[in-house]
Amino acid sequence: AAPPKPCTSFAHFNFDEQLMHQIRKSEFTQPTPIQCQGVPIALSGRDMIGIAKTGSGKTAAFIWPMLVHIMDQKELEPGEGPIAVIVCPTRELCQQIHAECKRFGKAYSLRSVAVYGGGSMWEQAKALQEGAEIVVCTPGRLIDHVKKKATTLQRVSYLVFDEADRMFDMGFEYQVRSVASHVRPDRQTLLFSATFRKKIERLARDILVDPIRVVQGDIGEANEDVTQMVEMLRSATDKWDWLTRRVVEFTSSGSVLIFVTKKANCEELATNLTQEGYSLGLLHGDMDQSERNKVISDFKKQNLPVLVATDVAARGLDIPSIRTVVNYDVARDIDTHTHRIGRTGRAGEKGVAYTLLTNKDTTFAGDLVRNLEGANQSVSKELMDLAMQ
Ligand code: ADP
Ligand code: MG
Repeated sequence: AAPPKPCTSFAHFNFDEQLMHQIRKSEFTQPTPIQCQGVPIALSGRDMIGIAKTGSGKTAAFIWPMLVHIMDQKELEPGEGPIAVIVCPTRELCQQIHAECKRFGKAYSLRSVAVYGGGSMWEQAKALQEGAEIVVCTPGRLIDHVKKKATTLQRVSYLVFDEADRMFDMGFEYQVRSVASHVRPDRQTLLFSATFRKKIERLARDILVDPIRVVQGDIGEANEDVTQMVEMLRSATDKWDWLTRRVVEFTSSGSVLIFVTKKANCEELATNLTQEGYSLGLLHGDMDQSERNKVISDFKKQNLPVLVATDVAARGLDIPSIRTVVNYDVARDIDTHTHRIGRTGRAGEKGVAYTLLTNKDTTFAGDLVRNLEGANQSVSKELMDLAMQ
């Protein structure tokens, strides 16, 4: 069948008054492009691959049709597993999507459970057993619960994979395939990603049926609402001097997110900044979940003006107050870079991303030039020279 036509306003989606009420409360005036295209497809019951840059509103593009889908099904009986499952790569993202499900699903009194590694197995199992229409999960943890019979996936008819590219990077391909294999084949499956690679194409071919593709913009392109500045510096000392010289100015326009590559660098930079009297939080994969939650929530509330983080914070996190991203260490690859800078410039807001480069970063410089050109950003002669080395 031909793909359904894209819509241009919320009225075209024919959502009921309860859902429209929540959308209005969010002060969304019109659907974003991925929502215009994706929502009608998802509502039609077809499988879909959605590729769109970070901050383009992909989450709601699968949550709204999911709510419509669930309300069309007969009610959950005690002991039955979820109707909708959303699989994503990190605990932070699980919590964020879970919060969005609760927000938009409020009027329907649907139950949503977030299930991720690091959280209490027992508490999650209990919540699953009490019954929930929606489960938001990391793939490995969901499979653990299924194996322990805390839940079943027999009733799942709406299955979403968010940030599929990231799940690949984290080595979750096997777990993703395993989740898909536990769910009945006549389900509806949606797969979202900010970047698109051959590996994802292959996965999509195996777990989706005749999907409709929605691609917004050039695949993997950086967000043009983020002004990218590249600082060419000579040494680690120069990086430190640069940061301490600029950080106060950055905090005056909004929250600041600083990326480093390793946990050790994260601790070190945070300690040094704290000694200089800055108030900041740090976030890396070795911290336990309650610490991570506390830091993210303080940062979100702007109690902490600065967050120093490893790439656990690079994907998916949606914190509208972030105006400045600093790539203190360059990202390990250009996709990660795109995700990092996508933490600012969200939902039409402007942001600035600084990337600190030393002359060791020649390989990255080449990728960065292409990335900047793709996002209509200027490329300095110094950077071009470094890229040519
Ligand atoms: P993505 O998953 O594509 O990176 P998100 O779903 O996290 O993006 O959405 C980015 C931001 O845009 C969020 O703060 C979200 O609340 C907001 N948003 C989503 N849809 C709309 C809309 N139609 N109008 C205005 N803001 C929106
Ligand atoms: Mg997202």
